[in-house]
Amino acid sequence: MSSDETTTARTAPARADSARHPRATDDVPTGEGHAIVLGAGIAGLLAARVLADRFARVTLVERDEFTGDGDGQEPSGPRRGIPQARHLHGLLDRGRTAIEQLYPGFTSEMARRGATTAEVLIGTRWYVADLRVAAAETGLTSVMATRPLLEAVLRERTLAMPGVRLQTRTTARGLLGAAHRVTGVVAAADDETLTLTGDLVVDATGRGSRAPEWLTRLGARAPQEERLEVDLGYSSQFYRRGPGQAEGPASIIISTGANGHGGGAIRVEDDRWHVTLAGMLGDHPPTDPAGFAAFAAGLAGPDIHDIVTGCEPLGDPVPHRFRHSVRRRFDRQPTVPQGFLVLGDALCSFNPLYAQGMTVAAQQALALRDCLHVPDRELPARFYAAAGAAVAAAWQLATSADLAHAGVVGQRGLRTKITNAYVARAQRAAHLDPQVARTFLRVANLVEPPAALLNPRIARRILLHGNV
Ligand SMILES: Cc1cc2nc3c(=O)[nH]c(=O)nc-3n(C[C@H](O)[C@H](O)[C@H](O)COP(=O)(O)OP(=O)(O)OC[C@H]3O[C@@H](n4cnc5c(N)ncnc54)[C@H](O)[C@@H]3O)c2cc1C
Repeated sequence: MSSDETTTARTAPARADSARHPRATDDVPTGEGHAIVLGAGIAGLLAARVLADRFARVTLVERDEFTGDGDGQEPSGPRRGIPQARHLHGLLDRGRTAIEQLYPGFTSEMARRGATTAEVLIGTRWYVADLRVAAAETGLTSVMATRPLLEAVLRERTLAMPGVRLQTRTTARGLLGAAHRVTGVVAAADDETLTLTGDLVVDATGRGSRAPEWLTRLGARAPQEERLEVDLGYSSQFYRRGPGQAEGPASIIISTGANGHGGGAIRVEDDRWHVTLAGMLGDHPPTDPAGFAAFAAGLAGPDIHDIVTGCEPLGDPVPHRFRHSVRRRFDRQPTVPQGFLVLGDALCSFNPLYAQGMTVAAQQALALRDCLHVPDRELPARFYAAAGAAVAAAWQLATSADLAHAGVVGQRGLRTKITNAYVARAQRAAHLDPQVARTFLRVANLVEPPAALLNPRIARRILLHGNV
């Protein structure tokens, strides 16, 4: 079978009440043509949202099936294609505000459906490099929820857009077209092979993206890859929140200490704590309850250990292994095929410890929206240039922080060494000085550039208080 008309059988209709959610860009006319988005994870949904303003039809192609949508129930748990959804997913404030631009009322909707919201450094406890960060007004909001809830809200809002449809249980297997232009997708659904044709194909299939191989098969060049091996292990567990904890902190985040161990606990829907423990360079947290508790006991502050030992566990700890961060340099290609672009984790997959992935995907969606305002000449190259700034800034922060761990193999130029020594001092100063704490968290949330820590007013405080 061929032609996209053959693919309607497994599409899901729009389910959310679009009248309840005003469109962010009502003034942008819906255009012509068909865009195909591969992968209905966070990046795919955000991309479909912006494409719906420009294309008459947007088809989301997703290999998983979604259960629970539209029946009034919140999603019961993670799905197969997103194994990371069983682990803590923090949304940086830069990502929250980007999503809010695309889906007005997102933060309040999340809160209505069970997310906890809090000022990032108030009503929370942060420990960075083993020291408690001073409480300070940061102007940033945390939205704490499980990844399945976050994704369900974005999915409902996206499917409420005119022209957007979701085709589930369909796996993209390759591209149609030639080296200079992609014209569609070959996909498998059960035992059928389908072809979908479109004016634009967007790959948002995540870090396991096969785009390099698909492009090579068309005769186009695969992008160079940059990798940083971190061999990170996660282990996560839910707990029932006890009655006495109702007024406790909304979240406790322990960023990694010098030994590469870290953890976090956030209050999520249904009166639960979601606890994730992490360890770098092969030193992973155990998944047996006793080992999990012992690992938590080694973290700075008693908070996470108290939850692990004092609350009723719901299920057993589950592991996840993340071997390396990877950045695919489509921005460095001398030529890229028209009609095809790659975004989200498929473009750059960051060390999850820094919680950047969803935020950078949202920044990429905004970059795509801006590129779509100009008629489609050289869209992919313009997109990679526009999205590249957000990717580069986050990549630089994350890889520098990784290279601060002696066991991570990579180039440490003088600049990295000086930066890391200064950041270590800033972390210590953030323990005593609310103004440094505020700036530090604003940089970590990608709201301000790292240069904000060099502002003379802040630098003086870092030098003064960074000796603890
Ligand atoms: C353990 C862990 C913890 C993380 N924690 C955080 C965090 O705290 N904060 C944060 O911002 N980010 C975090 N991330 C990163 C975050 O999950 C991603 O950056 C974010 O989900 C965007 O990814 P994506 O949508 O590009 O890909 P994914 O979320 O991986 O989605 C890809 C989608 O494509 C589908 N798919 C794959 N192949 C095909 C195919 N061939 N055909 C059709 N469909 C396909 C999959 O089923 C899936 O739905 C974490 C990642 C990991 C691994």
